[in-house]
Amino acid sequence: MALFLLGSCYLPQQTVMKLFLDWSDYQNAGMGDAYADIPKSGGDFAKAVAVCIASRQCEQAGKGVMCPSFRVTGKPALSPGGRVKLLKTALNAADDDALFDPELAEAMNLCVSCKGCKRECENELDMALIKAEYLAQRRQSGGLPLRHTLWAHLPRLLRWPLIRKLVVWRNQHAWLAHLLERSLGITAKAPLPVPAAYDRSKKPATENILLPESSTPTREVVLFVDTFNRRFNPAVAEAAIKLLSAAGYTVQTVGLADEHDSLCCGRTYFANGMIAKAQNEATRLLQALQPHVDAGRIIIGLEPSCILSLRDEYLKLGLGDAASRLAERVLLLEEFIAREQTANRWPLAFKSDGERMLVHGHCHQKAVGAMKAMRKVLKTVAGLDFELIESSCCGMAGHFGLEAEHYTASQAMAEQALFPALRAEPQAAVVANGFSCQQQIANGGFGKPRHIAEILYAAIAQQEPV
Ligand code: SF4
Ligand code: SF4
Repeated sequence: MALFLLGSCYLPQQTVMKLFLDWSDYQNAGMGDAYADIPKSGGDFAKAVAVCIASRQCEQAGKGVMCPSFRVTGKPALSPGGRVKLLKTALNAADDDALFDPELAEAMNLCVSCKGCKRECENELDMALIKAEYLAQRRQSGGLPLRHTLWAHLPRLLRWPLIRKLVVWRNQHAWLAHLLERSLGITAKAPLPVPAAYDRSKKPATENILLPESSTPTREVVLFVDTFNRRFNPAVAEAAIKLLSAAGYTVQTVGLADEHDSLCCGRTYFANGMIAKAQNEATRLLQALQPHVDAGRIIIGLEPSCILSLRDEYLKLGLGDAASRLAERVLLLEEFIAREQTANRWPLAFKSDGERMLVHGHCHQKAVGAMKAMRKVLKTVAGLDFELIESSCCGMAGHFGLEAEHYTASQAMAEQALFPALRAEPQAAVVANGFSCQQQIANGGFGKPRHIAEILYAAIAQQEPV
């Protein structure tokens, strides 16, 4: 039995199921409701599943976020409500093997954890969280394919310079790509993202920052540089540091280099059912951020799925009060700037030369309503002609779009709205803050999108302060 159990549940005459995540928020969900249909095993986890009232609202067509896998297949079993039905059957069976039921496994594998249901379901079903527990249960009951473990360990693997060479070779040689497809199920149809060439001893080039003459550093902020921007897009972190510094903030970084080099939010472990490892990573990051939280500094992040997990998933990892205190101080870069602009504390004007720009939001940005901040900040860029693409998941969803059996579904998700919108305006620049969204868009032949940090830094270059 796993050593890292966060809790367990016991209901009279019901099967005990050891849970990996903290489901205590659902302790009272459905209690006293004769129609709640709470499964026999699973305790508070089962109650979280049973919040679904089978309204089938998630099987409606439309342009929102929920539910990408239902939209591309039209199969009710692949809607949030359909997954609930299958999960209830498995939890009522109270048998570990029930979690391996092929129909349930397929339905859960095709959930891209976009959190669309959490936002749009009338009862706020959180299937992304339910999937993390489901994968943890499966891992405990007999394991998951090796590929899941590799994805989970990716942040650590990326520390080895050899990984970059392997990725380059794999992308250059079709035989190697096909070998990886046959052995690990990593599709040969899409290139893998190549880590940036990286010199460990070198700090980012934050010299030559364009400080406005009257500006003196007045406020301290912390930039958490996530694994994906650190390893694949260091220019994004660099742009964010320069932008905030130019606006007069003293920027401290966590996760960028030296002793913090290996810090990671733990998202890849969480998403692959390795909850104890996710908890370890989260604890290390919490400890690194604790002094800043105590000092009242805002923690700013760049990759939506990483930084927003500090406000969401961390609260389910049993990390106590420290996680709640951290969650209150975490903002995406654009949320921070929007907030500072509203409070008249943002000193810089933005200006564009009339560029046309299409903006694709990461699912988790949409799920927490953070696209409002994107819109608000981009609206302050004089001369910029931008439009938010009304799209659902891009289909990459972390590693989903790189898995051989999911490649077709991944492309179908991209073709729902995102790719047609990009195809309609081939001259427009593309903005996407999510690392996996950037991969999907680049792999689709639309060029590499830019992060809003890069857009805004370019928009202040050579500008006078307001
Ligand atoms: S998941 Fe939500 S929207 Fe779908 S059937 Fe259940 S309650 Fe209705
Ligand atoms: S998290 Fe996204 S993909 Fe998964 S069930 Fe909910 S809406 Fe569908």
